[in-house]
Amino acid sequence: MKPTNPVFTGIDTTVFETMSRLAMAHNAVNLGQGFPDVDGPDDILEAAANALTEGPNQYPPMLGLPELREAVARSNKRFYGLDIDPQSEVLITSGATEALADSILALVSAGDEVVLVEPLYDCYLPLVRRAGGIPVRVRVNPPNWDLNADALRAAFSQNTKAILINNPMNPTAKVFSESELQLIAELCKQHDAYAICDEVYEHLVFDGAQHRPLMTFDGMRERTVRIGSAGKTFSLTGWKVGYVTGPANLIDPIAKAHQWVTFTTPPNLQKAVAYGLTKEDDYFQNLAEELMAKRDRMTRGLRSVGFTVLPCAATYFLTCGFDGMGLGNNDVAACETLVREAGVAAVPVSAFYGGDAPTGYIRFCFCKKDWVIDEAVARLAAFLAARNAESA
Ligand code: PMP
Ligand code: GLN
Repeated sequence: MKPTNPVFTGIDTTVFETMSRLAMAHNAVNLGQGFPDVDGPDDILEAAANALTEGPNQYPPMLGLPELREAVARSNKRFYGLDIDPQSEVLITSGATEALADSILALVSAGDEVVLVEPLYDCYLPLVRRAGGIPVRVRVNPPNWDLNADALRAAFSQNTKAILINNPMNPTAKVFSESELQLIAELCKQHDAYAICDEVYEHLVFDGAQHRPLMTFDGMRERTVRIGSAGKTFSLTGWKVGYVTGPANLIDPIAKAHQWVTFTTPPNLQKAVAYGLTKEDDYFQNLAEELMAKRDRMTRGLRSVGFTVLPCAATYFLTCGFDGMGLGNNDVAACETLVREAGVAAVPVSAFYGGDAPTGYIRFCFCKKDWVIDEAVARLAAFLAARNAESA
């Protein structure tokens, strides 16, 4: 038989799915895949339930329900001062994943180079490759994950079609600094490149900091597409409602990709998300504050059992070193041990690399109930104590 497409043939199932399956099989506390264990606000759920029984339940407009497109445009104004035309500059997709796929398919042609910052979210490489693009990876390193200006400059060439950044960044929990964003903007303008900005964690930024989209930098409005996700903003990851904002001449081909990938996104969920985006500012502030308290709770717990917890400025992930804990020096093996023997699932950070990955870090997700965090820490403490007693 003829071979199936090599990009998707023989590759692994995503680390998130794999770890969630293992967590289930071992009855583990699942701190692997990133999802909150409490659903988003009751009034948004109620809005969705009403929209399910009262409709709409038939195909919505291909670009998305007008009321959601308007809500997305208004949020861009409210949070970032961006003036966005809801008719031509917003597209609703089935999650940020689809938005990424549509954007990459629509902007990248065979042979185009796409600059990616590594560690990277796992769908980026296969999507760029399937579009015929050539990934050019620039690595940021722990503990500070600073972007090296010379390395970034060297990654751009006359063949660069786009840079794809994730800001705030999973799994590093990094927020790109103003000067890093400024440099990215300069390089995009200098090389006439687009920027695809995965900003799904835009509202999960801590310690009083404010997210600043690359799109707000001088000269970037016309060359940037910005991707958001209701899954993250409203703690409803299973809903898969995403949005892309960008100039009309980019949204148009991206919408044409969307038209042949999913065509539309469930209208009742769109209606509820439109309602959600009208929430007062304190909803968004409280979300970040609640998560920050969880970040601190889990940081204390993980440090108390011996992990080196790296700084976390955003997202709902903690990246941790496990040197000297008796868990070896391979993150995949360490995660296997923890899920099977300690009853706690995490994800190996090496899964976020295209090759030659560091193997000394694992990621824990902290958007969990306080008692779940405490239970996970107690399990880790008991497991490590027993193991150290054995080896003593
Ligand atoms: N980008 C990043 C960086 C993510 O962590 C995720 C995970 N949810 C996504 C995109 C996908 O978002 P969605 O579930 O809306 O497709
Ligand atoms: N973004 C989530 C994470 O990083 C996972 C989403 C998924 O499972 N595809 O954990």
